[in-house]
Amino acid sequence: MPESNEEELVDDELKKAAVRVYVTCVPDPMVDNDDFWDNVRLALLGLVPLSCAELAGASEGRLRQVADESADLIAHKADVFQYQKAGQKSTGVLSALAAAIALGARQDGGITHLGIHACLEPHEGCRGS
Ligand SMILES: [Zn+2]
Repeated sequence: MPESNEEELVDDELKKAAVRVYVTCVPDPMVDNDDFWDNVRLALLGLVPLSCAELAGASEGRLRQVADESADLIAHKADVFQYQKAGQKSTGVLSALAAAIALGARQDGGITHLGIHACLEPHEGCRGS
């Protein structure tokens, strides 16, 4: 419970700025039957809402830049990510996957990929509606 009007104002501003994000697991035979991808899915369940919040209010130019950078990183380092050796430097692919899915969540109907569904707006057939 806020103790002052200033705190109430901060709470109101936070509520106005809050991004509605719905992210859930969905059946995906490739993910369901592979421990690596199942763990990636679990990580994405946490990372995608953060990426959605980070991209909220971003300009079209910034969104395009994130899409291009994510696609480039995934295309060039996904194999290293999937077969990473102990002690090897992080590839950034997991963050890129989260950003890419967050971008897809902005589309009508959201996105379903890698065993998760993510969307920002209620839509027909969504369990989050
Ligand atoms: Zn949805």
